[in-house]
Amino acid sequence: MSRIAFIGLGVMGSPMAGHLVRAGHEVTGFDLGQEAMARLRAAGGASAAGVAEAVKGAEIVITMLPADPQVEAVFPEILGSAEPGALYVDFSTITPQTSQKLAREGAARGLRVLDAPVSGGEKGAVDAVLSIMVGGSREDFEAATPVFEAVGRTFKLVGPAGAGQYVKAANQLVVGGTYALVAEAIVLMEAAGVDAAAGLDVLAGGLAASRILDIKRESMLARDFRPGFRIDLHHKDMGIILDAARGADVAVPMGALTAQLIAAARARGHGGLDHSALLKVTESLSGRDS
Ligand code: NAD
Repeated sequence: MSRIAFIGLGVMGSPMAGHLVRAGHEVTGFDLGQEAMARLRAAGGASAAGVAEAVKGAEIVITMLPADPQVEAVFPEILGSAEPGALYVDFSTITPQTSQKLAREGAARGLRVLDAPVSGGEKGAVDAVLSIMVGGSREDFEAATPVFEAVGRTFKLVGPAGAGQYVKAANQLVVGGTYALVAEAIVLMEAAGVDAAAGLDVLAGGLAASRILDIKRESMLARDFRPGFRIDLHHKDMGIILDAARGADVAVPMGALTAQLIAAARARGHGGLDHSALLKVTESLSGRDS
């Protein structure tokens, strides 16, 4: 069992830190929000007054933060306070370039760094069944396996530093595009006056089946857009995808279209809603605002 520092106890980090406590690890967390830290204490963990205090003495340091700026803001403190040879696992979704930079700077100071973005949403975090795509060395991946086992079900080393973020970009490309198409399917069926709930049940049993249809079709039909995964975060991810595609010299036309629909959702003030709220943009394109 390890001493673990956990920075970022939001929608995802909070249940993940709880699973690590239950797996027998000694978890000290830090978040800017007091409520988040109270949740960790209630789950049996400890809270710290800052990043440095949480990181001191930890064998494994974890971050689960919104985006590049927050990860880059806490990383110098992690570097400055981590024990020599400590393992740093960043579960946040950020750009591959930033992950590669953290790995380089960490290696220069004896910090072993893995980028390990996750998929599975809040439900996947709560149920400890996340999919985890890991970039880094085989040795560090194996050292982090007890952490991955506590929070996830499918985890794979997909390449060197930054590789996990490329796979996560691919994941968000498929998730965003699928939401856009499910939204169009709903708008079409409702406008045609057919039973959309029954229709989606049939879709979910055929070739169009997907996790999104399984988990989200009822809430989308009910226009329940409580997050979950916020439009703001998916907007950030679409930026990562388009940037990664440009860097790899490939065209992702469906991704570019999805990025515009998500940007429209955000521009219409839906940034704080779940990404299934893409449905609101799709409806609006057909003059069918709900
Ligand atoms: P969130 O906003 O709910 O949580 C982030 C937490 O980080 C917040 O509690 C915030 O207070 C804290 N924080 C921000 N800056 C900090 C700092 N400097 N020091 C300490 N704490 C700080 O976000 P989330 O939904 O948990 O997402 C976290 C990451 O996981 C993102 O990169 C997101 O893209 C990714 N992700 C989210 C989901 C999802 O369904 N929510 C799914 C997969 C991946």
